[in-house]
Amino acid sequence: MEYLNYINGEWVKSVSGETFESKNPANERVIGKFQKSNEEDVKVAINAAENAYENWSEMPAAKRGEILFRAADLLMKNKQKLGKLVATEMGKVLSESLGDVQEAIDVTYYMAAEGRRLFGHTTTSELRDKFCMTIRVPIGIVGCITPWNFPTAIPSWKIMPALICGNTIIFKPSSDTPLCAVEFVKILVKAGVPKGVLNLVTGPGGTVGKEIVKNKKIRGISFTGHRNTGKWILQNAGIKRIGLELGSKNGIIIMDDANLEIALDGVIWGAFGTTGQRCTAASRVIVHKKVKKKFENMLVNRVKKLKLGSGLNPGVDVGPLINKAALEKVTSYVEIGKREGAKLLIGGKPVKVKGKGYFFTPSIFTNCNIDMNICQDEIFGPVVAIIEAKNFDDAIKKINSVDYGLSSAIYTENIRYAFKAMKKIEAGLTYINSSTIGSEIHLPFGGVKQSGNAREGGIHGIDEFSEIKTIYFDYSGRLQKAQIDTS
Ligand code: NDP
Repeated sequence: MEYLNYINGEWVKSVSGETFESKNPANERVIGKFQKSNEEDVKVAINAAENAYENWSEMPAAKRGEILFRAADLLMKNKQKLGKLVATEMGKVLSESLGDVQEAIDVTYYMAAEGRRLFGHTTTSELRDKFCMTIRVPIGIVGCITPWNFPTAIPSWKIMPALICGNTIIFKPSSDTPLCAVEFVKILVKAGVPKGVLNLVTGPGGTVGKEIVKNKKIRGISFTGHRNTGKWILQNAGIKRIGLELGSKNGIIIMDDANLEIALDGVIWGAFGTTGQRCTAASRVIVHKKVKKKFENMLVNRVKKLKLGSGLNPGVDVGPLINKAALEKVTSYVEIGKREGAKLLIGGKPVKVKGKGYFFTPSIFTNCNIDMNICQDEIFGPVVAIIEAKNFDDAIKKINSVDYGLSSAIYTENIRYAFKAMKKIEAGLTYINSSTIGSEIHLPFGGVKQSGNAREGGIHGIDEFSEIKTIYFDYSGRLQKAQIDTS
């Protein structure tokens, strides 16, 4: 089946006349054909967004909120159907796919309710008979560019706050999960988002994405994806509001006093959940030398039991990687690890399930040192590097020894270590006695260092999609001069 772009309230073909395919990564079957749009389609969409802007931005935010409440209800009603679609097109196991949709539901309810808040603040003035306050205004037309690993959750983290703040949107989803995007947009259309307010343009990052980034009419870009794409956006977008959520190389510290059973659950979930394809995946385990051997044995025994297969099949623990290129990348990193002198304890092979799919066996390297490429680069697959730590300070030094800083975790029963870690680990998120994944939608989410410059979630999502405007209201009946009329 061929799916269309959604521009100015209509489902339309690309001017290019070309299409591309999306495949199920578990069995390589084609799911559908999508518009291979180009710069012209983006310009048409921007026109529509421009025309829709005044009406949408002037609509009372509480009314926009009513539309989002309806969208949240519809997402809830369609949760099973959408979850199955995520498992089919993106590949993660069904429980996680349903979690992806649940995240979208949670964000949508949260942002719908923001329609009755969107707080500014009031403060005093240094002059008499003068009133000072801030209000929020929309940014304008914003571009939302999203990856494939959370194909409903990540678009909702961007599109819902953008809508409630009164912006109009050009949405460019990943070319690996366009059907999830089409179904997501259908829900918002059914909920009543007016024509031109939300425009979906599918197609390559190099043309569609590039035009969104460079076009001067776009006033804000919210991007989640690879660090190199993020860098390119910063260099090419000109003066725009830019929010970047990028990759990472997240670590879990396991101290000698940790409850190793709980730590084991955390490492398995962090490293192999979503087949390691999360920006918050745990790809390094920094373990105290006193418990390293014991923990390695526990980990290997558990990994042996993990079952690979289609995310739709019950009992499967680990789904496929997203595509052939990802499989080749992960395979090459295992070779790099071996060449660097790390010891492969288990895994390390691409495999087929029923003769098909982009599967990779969950893999553990040990005797890794922090300078190795497998300890520095984001592999984005089910590969974990174990690094030994001499003591707490050594563990902190090692967890911070990467360019990235998105998520982190420490397992310890020592309250002093826990509190020190909260401050000393260089990351946007630190979990104590819990894995590196599991963000809740009302708390800020985002990284430091090369993991990006944005904070999404909760009120921070509102900050990303609104301008703060300062208002001075002088009712003195004369000219008063700040800093000059001092008496
Ligand atoms: P990419 O950067 O390759 O792609 C992300 C999106 O950007 C896609 O829609 C892509 O389009 C588009 N794109 C590609 N090139 C350009 C360009 N020049 N201009 C504008 N848009 C462009 O990342 P992946 O999809 O491979 O996602 C994986 C990455 O995302 C990992 O690094 C991961 O860590 C990160 N990520 C970060 C998260 C966070 O919140 N910090 C959360 C989830 C993932 P197309 O698909 O057509 O190429």
